Order: sequence, then structure tokens, then C-alpha cells
Amino acid sequence: MAPRTGSIDLTRSLLAFNTINPPGQEQECAKYLGSLLESVGFQIRCYEFAPQRTTIVAHLNGISDRLPLCFTGHIDTVPLGATPWRQDPFAGEIEGNKIYGRGSTDMKSGVAAMIVAAIQLAQMPTPKAGLTLVLTAGEETCCQGAYHLASLEGVLGEAGAIVVGEPTANYPWIGHKGAVRFEIRTQGVTAHASMPEQGVNAVYKAAQVILKLQAFDFQVTPHPILGKPTLNVSTIAGGLNINSVPDRCVIGVDIRTIPGQNHAEIQQQLQDLLGGEVDIELLDRAQSIATDEKNEWIQSVFKLIEPYLKTHPVAKGATFFTDASALTPAFGYPPTLILGPGEPEMAHKTDEFCYISKLEEGVEIYTEIAEAWCSVRPWKVGRNIEKTSN
Ligand SMILES: [Zn+2]
Repeated sequence: MAPRTGSIDLTRSLLAFNTINPPGQEQECAKYLGSLLESVGFQIRCYEFAPQRTTIVAHLNGISDRLPLCFTGHIDTVPLGATPWRQDPFAGEIEGNKIYGRGSTDMKSGVAAMIVAAIQLAQMPTPKAGLTLVLTAGEETCCQGAYHLASLEGVLGEAGAIVVGEPTANYPWIGHKGAVRFEIRTQGVTAHASMPEQGVNAVYKAAQVILKLQAFDFQVTPHPILGKPTLNVSTIAGGLNINSVPDRCVIGVDIRTIPGQNHAEIQQQLQDLLGGEVDIELLDRAQSIATDEKNEWIQSVFKLIEPYLKTHPVAKGATFFTDASALTPAFGYPPTLILGPGEPEMAHKTDEFCYISKLEEGVEIYTEIAEAWCSVRPWKVGRNIEKTSN
């Protein structure tokens, strides 16, 4: 494939790689991006948490001692869903102001805009602070690539600020909730369905558990930007056959957390609520992230974005989590923005699309952010992100 570096062509090239996760298979797409960046002077390193599951770290050196800026995005996508698409999900078909395809909004348009901005920065003659691009595999399955990177000693180094290119319609969000997922199991005693008094019904026990979970209050003060934590009972499976008393029921629970909460405390809260007879197992977790809106870099980006949004941004956060859950702590808690050209409400949908106008604006915004950071002007970097543990 010939390298294309316009943001529309690059988005379409990326859509042509099938990186649906599962199974992922990001390797080819990652190598393609790596070769584009290498051709303009970036050093490329590849990391795989499993065969074909390639994450790229690309670094452009700077000459000042200012910490590098980090742009990050994921290259995997979610599956297509059961409903047939009107467009070919891998062709990058264009209709008016829209590019269609799986990943067009979440988030191959964001990755393309970051790459185009990075190539422009690499071609600037002026001395500059470094720029690091972290292009991850496996984000859609709880940030596997990013957590793998974070677990490797000395791979990421430091960053002075992070931009996560998830779809926000170019609105700068200053944080997001975390997540913690549990499997909750009730145990019973099986018996013939015609003699239920001989058994103990695990589904009835689970029903009681669900009612308690529905009424559960975390008893925490809402976060000023992210609001309250939430709990959702997502799955239930109990009983094997209709003519027996079920002796096991399994409930899946998804909790969205705010700074100050951690998974061990939440697990204990649930155990206290449900009693010792109920088994609770941690499945997954991802940390919440929130940067102080008064941080100087955050305010500078808000200012820079004003002409695009035609208003001064207000501090907002996302209910979903991103690779920042892994990367922001691994980079030492630099200020972090979620900011990308995709439409948040198109993520994961049938006939997913991205607006071309937002994609092109995204390139300009990323370029402005990178130029402001990577020029040699001294820059005071705030470290006033709220530290959280999860
Ligand atoms: Zn995404």
C-alpha cells in the first residue's frame, strides 16, 4: 500500500485494515503507521501482549529539557454487530461530509489526525521538545495493550501532557470515569423441580442480591466533573435445565468509578452488603482520570480550541474509560485531555461515520497543540492531576 498522509486518505487506509477486536490482529495496521512515522524521523518500537497484537511507541526527540508531549490512540475496533451495514465497513466510503466505516469515529480518524499532525511537526525546522505517539492494540477489551506497556519497565519514560484521541467531536474533556467489573455467584442445592422444598434455589438468592444491588448507594461525594459512580447489573445466568432446582447463579456487574474510589474498597462494600455466602470475583478494572481544570496547559488548550468550538470550553468528563487509565499513571500523572474528531454518539454503532470537517479540524487542533508544546518557549508544567487508585 502506498503511504498516504492526507487525513482523509489516511483514515480510509486505516479503515481498510480489519482490526476488529476480538481477535484484534493489529500488527499489520501498527506496522503501516510505524513505517509512516519512521519515514519522517520517529524512532519506532513495537510491543506485543500476544501474537499479532502490536502496540507502537513512536518517539521524536526534542532538544530542550521539556518533557515530551504524548498523543495516544487505539487501532483496534469493536465488532460490526448483527445488523447489516448500509456501507462496506472497511471501504471508507464517503458521502457528503461523512466517512463511513468501523472505527471511523472510534477512533481511526483520531489516529489519522494525530499522525498527520505528528508528520507536520517532524518536518518543522525549529528546535522542539519531543513528541511520543502511543498507538495501542486491545483497547476495546479493557486497555490490554496500554496496560501491557505500563507493566514494562522503562518503556514509556515520562510525558509532560497527554492527549487521548477518543471521539469527543473535538471537545476537550479533562477526565473520565474508571470501571470495575465483578462476577457475583450464589450457590444452592439442586433437586427435582417437582419437589422444590428439597433444594435451595440459587436463582432466588440471586434475585435478592440483584434487588440489593439496585438499591445500593456508594456513599461517596460526587466528583465535581464526573458526578456519581454508577452500578449496572449486566448479565445473569442460572440453572441448567427446566426440571431442576438451580444450584448456581452468576451475575455480572459493571461499576463506573470516580476518583477516590478503589476496587478493593468497592469489593468490600459489596461483600458487606451481600453477606459472606455470596462469592464476589474481580474480573477487570480501569482507573478513573481527572485533571484539574485550572492546570495551565489545560487552560492553554481550552483557549486554543475556542475558535473551533466558537465558545470557551467548560470542564467535562466522559462516563467511559480510555487508555489513559493505564498511561496517565504510567507517565507519572501528567495533565491529560480526551480530545478527538470522532462523534461520541457514533461509537460502536452500525453505519459508524466521522465528519470530514471535524477530522480536518482535528488535524489543525493537534498541530496547534503540538507546536505550542514542542516549541522551545519555557513551559511550566503542572502536576496537579488528582491521584487515584483503582
Ligand atoms: Zn475508542
